[in-house]
Amino acid sequence: MKIVDNLKVQLSEKTEIVTNQDAKYLWKKCLAIIKEQVKPITFNTWFNPIIPLEYNDNNLKIQLPTQFFWEWIDEHYSSILMNAVHRVIGPACKLSFIVKEEVENEKPPISIVEVKSNGSNGKNNNLPPIESNLNPRYQFSNFIKGEGNQLARATALAISDNPGETSFNPFFIYGGVGLGKTHLIQAIGNKISEKFPDKRVLYVSADDFTRKFVDAIQNHQANEFQNFYRSIDVLIIDDIQFLSGKEKTQDLFFHIFNTLHQARKQIVLSSDKPPKELKGLDERLISRFKWGLQADIQPPDFETRVAILNSKAQEFGMNISPQLIEFISTNITSNIRELEGCLIKMLATATISSKEIDMELTRKIVKEIASDKKVSLGIDDITKIVCEFLSIPENKIREKTRKKEIVFARQIAMYLSKEFTSNSLKTIGLYFGGRDHSTVIHSCNLIEKNIGSDPYLQDVIEKLRSKIDMII
Ligand code: ADP
Ligand code: MG
Repeated sequence: MKIVDNLKVQLSEKTEIVTNQDAKYLWKKCLAIIKEQVKPITFNTWFNPIIPLEYNDNNLKIQLPTQFFWEWIDEHYSSILMNAVHRVIGPACKLSFIVKEEVENEKPPISIVEVKSNGSNGKNNNLPPIESNLNPRYQFSNFIKGEGNQLARATALAISDNPGETSFNPFFIYGGVGLGKTHLIQAIGNKISEKFPDKRVLYVSADDFTRKFVDAIQNHQANEFQNFYRSIDVLIIDDIQFLSGKEKTQDLFFHIFNTLHQARKQIVLSSDKPPKELKGLDERLISRFKWGLQADIQPPDFETRVAILNSKAQEFGMNISPQLIEFISTNITSNIRELEGCLIKMLATATISSKEIDMELTRKIVKEIASDKKVSLGIDDITKIVCEFLSIPENKIREKTRKKEIVFARQIAMYLSKEFTSNSLKTIGLYFGGRDHSTVIHSCNLIEKNIGSDPYLQDVIEKLRSKIDMII
């Protein structure tokens, strides 16, 4: 904490003896000195908004608009600020600050010296142990290393050895669904808990965090809530994208983040997107997410999928041939949760029907898992694919036009939406410009009827089907 170090700064010979003890008067003199040393824009942005509150016992108390102000000034202008204070008031003068939001909440002021002592990385010996919410199943030992997770895993290991002490703070890990984010961030928590039993490690999903905060507000315990989170040594928040649009929770998290980060407590976050792509999140949070290290997790390659399946099969006590493992790895490619789901389904089916785990069973289950995904494909996805393929602007397909090529595209899009999505005919009709469900039936029948006799139509449908097959 630079301001604290600067309390010891050697003073210039210009130090005055102050007689007027009025905080406003003293601060005005400080500002005059500062103004000479910084650019006008810096002065106006960072120093003008500071309000002097009181001066007594060699302590000048000032008020800053936000916590961020304090951090910024501490980082960039601490020596200029402290030199001015020492020149005007004297070498023994201390500065303490209070944040405006806290004045509104009538909290006691934070002295800069206090911030320093709270900020030491000591153990929280006086605090009771907490429930970490960690699942012991998620360990580094059962997290398979692959090209797609190399950086994320290596960083996670480094953090576990040295929580809060690396420059990877916060550690922000992002990637698609089912790729191992939760596993990895919980592995960090489990390893730290094992290695440093005194550290207060907490895992919480952003959803849970929000829910608990809302409860706390309703029970008038918002302060206790905040204090609890500020007492954590390793705070792991999963799926941080769910804070999106929740302004109050974001604001609270912002303050918790600042306290923990300043005190060199480790923060680990996961998200489905990199910080810069997060929507509905406050810019100041996003900028903090970029402070440490961001690492992504990519879908596993074939070899990693095989390795994961082998490891899971062993974990589940399943005896399964390399051919079957390869078959699954070839057909389920995007998501580790699905690879795992496939094994669980195979195990369950084999146990219930006392069947052998053979190729027939495997094929059936892989197919089921693949077809489950159709549900998640929407009419808009189908429309996009059809319009792109037939070079038709997407908005046209929903208009009332009777232009031949548009009508053709619309009929195909309806036909494929019926085949690939779980939407009702009514919904499909509504999507395509508020048409009746009988129009959808008519379109589907027409395509069905012509497909046998029209090789062009047959070709188009086949190509579109394989395009759709590729993404589901
Ligand atoms: P995410 O949080 O990214 O959606 P999860 O961490 O929940 O994904 O992972 C889904 C499942 O896949 C979990 O059961 C997890 O144990 C497993 N998994 C993910 N990545 C790996 C890996 N590299 N090695 C072993 N298991 C993994
Ligand atoms: Mg997850």
